[in-house]
Formats: sequence, C-alpha cells, structure tokens
Amino acid sequence: MELTLPGLHHLTAVATDPQANLAFYAGLLGLRLVKQTVNFDDPGTYHLYYGIDEGRPGTLLTFFVVPSAPPGGPGSGAPSVLQLSAPEGSLPFWRERLARAGVTTSLRPRWEETVLAFRDPDGLPVELVAAGGDPRTPWLAGPLPEEYALRGLAGVELAVARSGPTESFLGKILGGRPHRRDGTRTRIAFGEPVPGHFLDLAATPDLPASRGGAGTLHHLALRCPDNDAQDRVDAALQAAGVATSGPRDRLYFRSIYFREPGGSLLEVATDLPGFTGDERPEELGTRLCLPPALESQRVAIERGLPTLRLPGGGAPSAGPEYGTGEGDARAATSG
Ligand code: ZN
Repeated sequence: MELTLPGLHHLTAVATDPQANLAFYAGLLGLRLVKQTVNFDDPGTYHLYYGIDEGRPGTLLTFFVVPSAPPGGPGSGAPSVLQLSAPEGSLPFWRERLARAGVTTSLRPRWEETVLAFRDPDGLPVELVAAGGDPRTPWLAGPLPEEYALRGLAGVELAVARSGPTESFLGKILGGRPHRRDGTRTRIAFGEPVPGHFLDLAATPDLPASRGGAGTLHHLALRCPDNDAQDRVDAALQAAGVATSGPRDRLYFRSIYFREPGGSLLEVATDLPGFTGDERPEELGTRLCLPPALESQRVAIERGLPTLRLPGGGAPSAGPEYGTGEGDARAATSG
C-alpha cells in the first residue's frame, strides 16, 4: 500500500443532552458548531459537528445525541480518549477555566507534551494536549484569544488488549508509523508526526470489551484527499481480507467503514466537499441542515428535536451554568 493517510479527519462520540453538549464544547471549550444536522441513519436525533473555521478536517468532533442512550462502558475494542490540541503554555488558563465551570481536572506530563485530563458532561474522557509543532491556526473569530484557543484534534487513544495486530494493520494498510513507544503505550503517526496525526494504542491485556453508549467514542475517521484515494484504500482493505461498508455519502464527506483487528470501528473520510454546500461560511451551524432526501420530513423532524440555544448571536449564551460567555473569556485573559 503506497498511500499514507494524512492524519485524523474526525472523532464521533455519543451524548445524551444536546444543550449540555453545546454548552461544553462551544461555550466552554470554544469550538465552533459548524453543523447541526440529524443522524442520517436515525433522523429523530441530532448529529452535531464542532470544528475550527469552516470545519477543517482534523479539527472535527461530532456527536450522535441520543437522549435515551445508556451509559457506555470503557474497555478494549474502542477509541477511548479524545485528545484536543492546546497551545503550549495554555494549560494553566484551561485548568482555571474548567475549575470555574466545576470541571475536575488532572495535569500530567507525557513524553514531550503536557496533558490536562477531564470528562465531558456524559463522562467522556477528554485531554487537552499542549505540545509544540502544531502548525494549525485556531478559530481566530472564536470566543477565545489565539494564545488559548484550541487547534483541533491532537489525537485519539485506542484501547486494545494487544497492540501488535492493530499496529501492524495500521502500518501495512493505512500507512501509520510508530512514532513513540513507552511501556504499554504506542503512538502511531500518520504522515508528519505532529498534533492531529496521532493515534495512541493503549494496551491492557485483560481489559474487558468496551460497551458502546453515552460518554464513549463511537468511531474515529482518518483523512483521505478525495474519492479516488478512498477507492484505493477500500481496494487495499478488501485485498487484505477486511470487510468494508463500501462508499457512503455523508453529504459533507464520503466515507468507508471497517474494523481494525482490535475491534474498533474506523472510517476513512474524504476532505471534500466540506460543510459550505448547504450554508454560507459565516452561517455554519446556525440552522438545522437536512440532506435532500429528508427535506420533505423537515417539519416532523424539527418538531421532534429539542430547540438549541446557540452561543452568541443574541440568543442566550450557551451554558449559562458555565458562566463562560465571550465577554468573561476575553476579560479573564486581558489582565
Ligand atoms: Zn464518522
């Protein structure tokens, strides 16, 4: 396989309360809601997309919001920790900001980076990772100044019983290369070894199998440039005896799905066409977008979904419980 996939495209997790999710990821963490739509396979539930700018690949975090979802259980065979890239030196700010919002954090070094770990409202493990070498600019029009604003995904941790089969699979078929190794953790890099390109295999031999549900990551998606590249990945997977979904049109990208040997669901998603086909760039995330096939059901779908209060725009600030509207975030950093 000649193709090396150029990093992460998005991570998808399961949440239960859309307003709490929006307050946390947009209001508190300062990401942009770049699309509100529904789960195309379950149109009665929200699918919320967060990212930087117009939803650049590698900055995307998406949530299936299923109010009735039971809590998931951690374990092997699933992505286990969401890692977001924070500027070097910004973690004291983030620790204080999260503490003011009532979020308990722990700070620790890991290799050449520093990690601030906490959980989201559904219990999903999240890490803000401060490391050098992230070439990406944050969302400069967002609520936080550049020295604190997040830059997108740093990586993802995958819980496995044994790292060998997954490492071999990622290397031979998808072009991931071992970058760091330490005890039971192996960091795989896709392309350049910089934030946004990392997948950490965390091996625990007797780990029980994970149980999907609220507060867990559902799958991770790697990037590929276009449909042709994705067809080549699909062919390589099938030549290796790996069953794939075949191409699925996700409106904002095209996807294939398959499982790695450790059991985690992986996706390879195209960079194109992106999120501006059904909304102007400045309006991203401000209204419910539906794929053409569901437009005829819009009234019924909208009636069944809870109304979202968006950050800014004159609506009540997301997450009054966090007290982190734009004004106080700026004020907190200006003195
Ligand atoms: Zn996905």
